[in-house]
Amino acid sequence: MSTIRFNALDIIHHRKKVSINLPNENISNRFGSNVFNQKTMRNYLSAEAYDAVMQAIDQGSSISESIADQIAIAMKLWAMTKNVTHYTHWFQPLTGGTAEKHDSFFEPDHQGGTIEKFEGKLLVQQEPDASSFPSGGIRSTFEARGYTAWDPTSPAFIIGKTLCIPTIFVSYTGEALDYKTPLLKALAAVDKAAVAVCQYFDPDIKKVNATLGWEQEYFLVDSALFDARPDLVLTGRTLIGQPPSKGQQLDDHYFGSIPERVLNFMQELEHECYLLGIPIKTRHNEVAPGQYELAPVFEECNISVDHNSLIMDVMEKVAWRHHFRVLIHEKPFAQVNGSGKHNNWSLATNTGKNLLSPGETPESNLQFLTFFINTIKAVDTYGDLIRASIASAGNDHRLGANEAPPAIISVFIGSQFSNLLDNLEEMKFLTSVKSDEKKAGERLSVVKKIPEIRLHNTDRNRTSPFAFTGNKFELRAVGSAANCAEPMTALNTIVAQQLHDFKESVDILVEFGVAQEDAIFSILKEYIKSSKSVRFEGDGYSDEWVKIAESRNLKNVKTTPRALDFYMTDSAVELFQKNAIMSSVELKARYHIQLEKYQMRIEIESKVLGDLAINHIIPAAVKYQNLLINNINALSNNIDTPDYKEVTEEQRKLIKEIAVDISNVISGRKAMISAREKADHIEDVRDKAICYCNEVKPHFDSLRFHIDQLEMLVDDELWPLPKYKELLYSK
Ligand code: ADP
Ligand code: MG
Repeated sequence: MSTIRFNALDIIHHRKKVSINLPNENISNRFGSNVFNQKTMRNYLSAEAYDAVMQAIDQGSSISESIADQIAIAMKLWAMTKNVTHYTHWFQPLTGGTAEKHDSFFEPDHQGGTIEKFEGKLLVQQEPDASSFPSGGIRSTFEARGYTAWDPTSPAFIIGKTLCIPTIFVSYTGEALDYKTPLLKALAAVDKAAVAVCQYFDPDIKKVNATLGWEQEYFLVDSALFDARPDLVLTGRTLIGQPPSKGQQLDDHYFGSIPERVLNFMQELEHECYLLGIPIKTRHNEVAPGQYELAPVFEECNISVDHNSLIMDVMEKVAWRHHFRVLIHEKPFAQVNGSGKHNNWSLATNTGKNLLSPGETPESNLQFLTFFINTIKAVDTYGDLIRASIASAGNDHRLGANEAPPAIISVFIGSQFSNLLDNLEEMKFLTSVKSDEKKAGERLSVVKKIPEIRLHNTDRNRTSPFAFTGNKFELRAVGSAANCAEPMTALNTIVAQQLHDFKESVDILVEFGVAQEDAIFSILKEYIKSSKSVRFEGDGYSDEWVKIAESRNLKNVKTTPRALDFYMTDSAVELFQKNAIMSSVELKARYHIQLEKYQMRIEIESKVLGDLAINHIIPAAVKYQNLLINNINALSNNIDTPDYKEVTEEQRKLIKEIAVDISNVISGRKAMISAREKADHIEDVRDKAICYCNEVKPHFDSLRFHIDQLEMLVDDELWPLPKYKELLYSK
């Protein structure tokens, strides 16, 4: 009997239930209790220090050294009431994931005793060893050091016995080496541009926050089975495996009841999230067996991004306790639904308004339409950057691979809003309204002509990468393993630029004497016309759409190395530079890191697949083949010769079939290795990534085909790796 797989199954069979011990208390009593949030700050900070933090959050103002000292001491005091012993700057390097380096509060007092110490300068800035984080060549050109710097807009939190302080991570010369730095700049840009546009409608609007509510999809696999699959351990996805006969075609998993073991995991995860102030709201089964989703209530974008990065870590830790592994990869299983991370996005004002929520009155509807249409226009102009921002080796399995949203970036708004835009487009400009239609003394405002917008249940279109869902846009094409900061940086930047252009055009018309509302309306009408090609209401998965998109000149870029090219166009470089998001050096560094990351992932997958083929699959297949051969030999001694040929014909065919697959696996592996050798001789990082994509990766499919074929033929007891049915259904 094969060992690892059956041992794993045996372990699951004998697993004891993991009991959970959650407090009985209300969620609101424990919510945020491990966060240095506003409520806690009020208790621990002087009024002066509290105001300084609030101003840093609202206006981006800096915090003085002496105030930072006060805050550091307060943080330490608070943390010590929770038995915290260490602190760390917590940041999101471009490797993906999060990084931390723990230091103890404890210091000798040089009089034989110790004190716990934490001061402003340790809070504000640190110098972690940056050499192990990717910099895309920035550090070799400039300076070897990197700094983390406190982000006061995202509150510190406690994990275990460590106080974690959210920070940005930059090089010695100030270039961003992380996801958060450009995001904060993009959020500042969209704030500024949106506030300026809001002045047309409401002078009380002084601040606009981008909001983000993500939905995280993931799979859970038993840890014993996970450990028995080197491909899952090393690449996060299965590189081989025959899909089970009871697949998702039954769709009985979606909204079905959650298995008890999984539910225990979820409840404990939610508890941890509440302590960390992450407002988790929904949990349910997803489409595929073993697939789940969780989603919080939306928050300010920077905090929401931090919470998503944090939750990916917390999930892993909690899963561990329940003998599960979380698969956050976009496509852990072939022919089973992949995982995404929908990014619901909107803009919220300091006056408590959602700028993408249609209002009650025609006046507020002009404001709504302004932001709604400008967002569509932004995606029309800069959709390529959205595509680049969601590119990854994992997400290539979804985008352009006949599932989830396609690689073509388009906008879905539903029939109600499509009709509305069509009607607006037809509406005459105010100046063409005959004067006798006006009542004496009344300026016939075009605003009055905007029909009332009632919020129906907006249509659902699951095939669109960017859909309007009633009061927010939903970017569905983000990969489940992605850091949301990257697409959010792109989206907020392009909307900032678009709003800026819009305001400029309106102001020119106003200067020429056009009434402000008319000017706004006429520019919006122009945008409705010019951005039509990005709007698509049909089935995004259909072949027809591919043809239509082509005729509209919409790009359909299916692989990461090509999609990343969009970051390097002149217009992209100019856009990021003009809005002070990233310099061309920073953008280029990021581009290189992403290409390298892509290439390395394909390389690792290729090596793991090659090893599995030769060390696990071939030996099992040969063993079974020998069983068959021995059997035939034995039969030949026992059956009359003429009969023997006839009776063993099917068996001999089977031996031949296995031989063909074995031979194809061996030769396929060899061909893959030669392709890799060729790629490894390429110096240029882009060419190398493209070679891995076009010449190494295609071998995966042919190798897999023959391996999966063998899985069907070979004795189940000899098969060394846990099968799909076990990975997906053993709970
Ligand atoms: P779906 O039907 O797509 O699964 P859900 O209702 O589960 O949608 O999730 C919707 C997500 O959108 C939630 O995370 C919610 O907090 C978020 N959301 C709602 N309003 C806004 C908004 N104004 N800005 C950003 N996100 C929002
Ligand atoms: Mg959704």
